[in-house]
Amino acid sequence: MVKRNPHMAKLSGGYLFPEIARRKKALLEKNPSAKVISLGIGDTTLPLTPYICSALLDAAKKLGTKEGYSGYGDEQGMTALREKIAKVLYHGSADSDEVFISDGAKPDLGRMQILFGADATLAVQDPSYPVYVDGSVIVGATGPYNQKKQQYASIIYMRCTPKNRFFPDLAAQPRTDLIYFCSPNNPTGAVATKQQLKKLVDFAKQNRSIIIFDAAYAEYIEEKGLPKSIYEIPGAKEVAIEVNSFSKTIGFTGVRLGWCVVPKQLVYEDGSSVHKDWNRITTTIFNGASNLVQRGGLAALDAEGLTEMKQTVDYYKENARIIKTALDALGFETYGGRNAPYIWVRIKGKKSWDAWSELLEQKHIVTTPGAGFGPGGEGFLRFSSFGRREDVLLAVERLKRDKL
Ligand SMILES: *Cc1c(COP(=O)(O)O)cnc(C)c1O
Repeated sequence: MVKRNPHMAKLSGGYLFPEIARRKKALLEKNPSAKVISLGIGDTTLPLTPYICSALLDAAKKLGTKEGYSGYGDEQGMTALREKIAKVLYHGSADSDEVFISDGAKPDLGRMQILFGADATLAVQDPSYPVYVDGSVIVGATGPYNQKKQQYASIIYMRCTPKNRFFPDLAAQPRTDLIYFCSPNNPTGAVATKQQLKKLVDFAKQNRSIIIFDAAYAEYIEEKGLPKSIYEIPGAKEVAIEVNSFSKTIGFTGVRLGWCVVPKQLVYEDGSSVHKDWNRITTTIFNGASNLVQRGGLAALDAEGLTEMKQTVDYYKENARIIKTALDALGFETYGGRNAPYIWVRIKGKKSWDAWSELLEQKHIVTTPGAGFGPGGEGFLRFSSFGRREDVLLAVERLKRDKL
């Protein structure tokens, strides 16, 4: 018999979204005619836009010709796309050979956990996107379990609440090797200011830590002066990797395309290069993002593509505005929803899974319970703005009415 990877048993009860799906299914079995509206999972609903979609079609057609066919490409991605991302999105603050094209930010985060391995200690914002902790647990980066704290020694939860305006008190944090940081944040919708990110970069420098900065929602930032990339902070290239994705900007959640930036200045304590190791990981266990899909990424960064991207992002942001306005009018304490597609809502006097179930049972609306994002999410619900407009409007009507 095969022994189970012992780290798998350390994962806490099931991944959040399968649990939500299970409970939703249970409701539908009880009440088959319920029209359930999902403001839960962060999955896009708008179709691909015309210019980007036609680039995908053209790429597929080319692959069907003798002249246009190509097999394996560079594992790091097409040079043209790496260059275009460096130029259009980083305006020179990242070199093209620091940009690695991937099949999405989540798989990249998983490979990064393999890169840093089981001995790495890490800090996450609490609440946070579940992959940072769960992926680290899978590779064994836990350290011993502290029964009293009910936490693993290698994983530090940096509490982010309305009280500290969702930015952790860094002075109170112990040193860790890695610091996962997501801004605009999933789930809270909070966006770190330049000043805050500078504090984070300084903290990482002092501690000789590496920041893994998740900028998946950078394009949702509309307020001038709010940083879209960690590299807007001087010196960040010495301490930070950035991951990003085409998922939430052009609806590539199913198509799959992302990238990360691993700066050449980034080194381990022995002076060796993180960039080189990342290149080794990429060439060894990843064979590159789909060539066809990378053509879609190239199109997305043309002027026409960028216009379509903005339209897509604006649509979801308008949804966010509608949801937030309705919740505010109902007297809820809400956060986010402005430079981010998520609205973080305090539920007074209730556990978040209980509030979540009530909303599902009484209004047939699926949200996401805050507790699923870490202990700091208890007492909150996350509303996602990625639904179709008609569903968002219907959900808002239901919220306003006492009964269905
Ligand atoms: C959706 C999301 C991603 C994107 O993941 P992909 O694998 O690129 O689809 C990354 N980080 C966060 C915080 C997200 O919410």
